[in-house]
Amino acid sequence: MSEAAQQKVEVNNAPVTATQRMANLVSLAKRRGFVFPASEIYGGLNGFWDFGPLGIALKNNIRDTWWRDMVECPPIGPDGSPLSIVGLDSAIIQNPKTWVASGHVAGFADLMSDCRETKGRYRADHIVCTEIQFKKGDNVKSLGWLSTLDGDEAEANLAKKAKKMIQKSGGGEIVPFDITKAIPFTSLSESQRALVIGPDAENPGTLTEPRKFNLMFETYTGVFQNEDSRAYLRPETAQGIFLNYKNVLDSSRVKVPFGIAQIGKAFRNEVTPRNFIFRTREFEQMEMEFFCPPDDAKMWYEFWVTTRLKWWEERIGLSKAKLQRREHDSDELAHYSTACADVEFQYPFSEPKFGELEGIAHRGNFDLTQHSQHSKTNLEYFDQENNKKYLPHVIEPASGLTRGVLAVLCDAYEYDASRASPEWLRIKPSLAPIKAGVFPLVNKDGMPEMAEKIYLELRQSFTCQYDAKQSIGRRYARMDEAGTPFCLTVDGDSLKDSTVTVRHRDTASQERVNAGQLKAYLNEKLA
Ligand code: ATP
Repeated sequence: MSEAAQQKVEVNNAPVTATQRMANLVSLAKRRGFVFPASEIYGGLNGFWDFGPLGIALKNNIRDTWWRDMVECPPIGPDGSPLSIVGLDSAIIQNPKTWVASGHVAGFADLMSDCRETKGRYRADHIVCTEIQFKKGDNVKSLGWLSTLDGDEAEANLAKKAKKMIQKSGGGEIVPFDITKAIPFTSLSESQRALVIGPDAENPGTLTEPRKFNLMFETYTGVFQNEDSRAYLRPETAQGIFLNYKNVLDSSRVKVPFGIAQIGKAFRNEVTPRNFIFRTREFEQMEMEFFCPPDDAKMWYEFWVTTRLKWWEERIGLSKAKLQRREHDSDELAHYSTACADVEFQYPFSEPKFGELEGIAHRGNFDLTQHSQHSKTNLEYFDQENNKKYLPHVIEPASGLTRGVLAVLCDAYEYDASRASPEWLRIKPSLAPIKAGVFPLVNKDGMPEMAEKIYLELRQSFTCQYDAKQSIGRRYARMDEAGTPFCLTVDGDSLKDSTVTVRHRDTASQERVNAGQLKAYLNEKLA
C-alpha cells in the first residue's frame, strides 16, 4: 500500500475504496492496540509486527479454537467415529539436515528482481506489466512496459501510470490496451523484461533479471560461527512433526489414520513483505499432518479441504461470500504432490481477487521417505490388522494464524457515518478480545459501586473491562472499535429495579436485563 493510501480516511468521509478501508483498518488496529509496527521507536523493521493487548487476545482466541477443534475435540470422520489427532510443540531450530532432507535448502526460494534505479527489491512473480504502444501512421512504437505490484489496486495504478506516460510523450495516438490483462514480469521474454519500467521507477530497463533467493533465515548454534554450526530458523512448523512422527507413534496409542497438530512461529525472509500482516517475515502457523493408508489418501484429502473451508466460515465466522476453495493447477503442484487446494479469502487489497489463507496439500509419502533416507531411520508403519508395513501418506492442512487474524479484522471492519461510533469491528462474539464492557452511566450516586460488583463477578467467567471515565458515548465507541459485542450500563433505574442496559455492538440497540441474569445471558449469547 502506498504511503498516500495509508493515510487514514477521516471518519466523516466514508471509506469508499478497498484501499481506504484497509488504511482505516490499519489505523484502527494501531490506535486500539491490535497490531503495532515492530520496534517502532527505532523506525520499525520491514516485515515484522507486534501484537498489542487486543491483538494477542484475538490471536489467542483463534489459536485456541483451532487447537480445540483439531486436538481436544477433533472432527468426526467420514465413517462416523471421532478422529485421533495429538498435539506437539517442536523446537524452532532443528538439526540443519532436516532442511536438506525436506528440500528447503536446495529449493525454498523465490525469484526476485532488484531495481537499479530505486534500489527496491521485488518478488518477480508479484510484478505485473502492461505494454504501452504509440501509433504514428502505420508505424507502431513501444513506449515501454509499465509495471506495478499485483493486488493493491494494480489496474488503477497501471492506468494512472499509463496516463502520465502518454502525457509525457506529448499525446498522440496510443494503441488501445486492456489494463486487466496485465502480464507477470516472469512471463515476459528477456528482451521484453529489459524494457520494463520498475514498479517505483521512472526509467525503463532498471529491473534485474529474476534470480533465486532462499527464504530461510540462517543462524549459528554454539560459540563458533562457521559452516558446521550453521542452522536455520524453521520456515514452517510441519517438518518438526515429521521428525517426531516415530516418537509419537512409539509413545502414544495412536494408529493410522491419525494426525499430529502444531501451532508455532515460522520465519521466512520474504523478498517483499507487504499488505500489513498478510506477508511478514515472522508469523505463526497452525499445521496438522494427517497420516493415512495410501489407498485412502484421496478420500482424506477431500475430507480435509471441505472441513477446513467450513471451519473458517462456521467457527471463525468469516463471511461465506468472501471464502473460496481454489484447486491448484498441475503446474503449481510440487513434484511429489498429487493435489493441493487453498482456502482463499477476499482481502481488501486483493479485491476482486482472493488471497491464500490456508493450503491443504496431498503430500504423498514424500516427507517420510526423505527423512527415512537422510536419517537412515525406518519410519514405516506396521499395520497389525493387515500384517503389512508401509509409509503412510500425508494430508496437510496448513494455515496461517497471523493471516487468520488479518482475515478476521478485514471481515469485521464496519463503517456507518450515521452512527455515533462510525467504525466498529463485527468480530464473532466468541472470538472478541473483550466480551463485555461494564460501565456506570455516571461516576456517582451508587452507580460505580453496583457496576464494579457486576464487573468483579462477570470477570471470573468472561474477559470484561470496567470503565467509568468519559461520556457514555465515548465509552461505547471505544468498545465498538475493540469489537466488544456487549456493553452493560448501570444507570439510575438499575439501583431501583436491579436491571442494567445491555447495548449491542452491531445494531447499537439496547435492552434491559436483570443484573442477576447477566452471566446466563452472556453464556447464551457467546455459546
Ligand atoms: P504464499 O503463497 O502466500 O507465500 P505459501 O503457499 O508459501 O504462502 P504455506 O507454505 O502453504 O504458504 O504456509 C501455510 C500458511 O502459512 C499459508 O496459507 C499462510 O496462511 C501462512 N503464511 C505463509 N507465508 C506467510 C507469510 N510470509 N506471512 C504470513 N503468513 C504466511
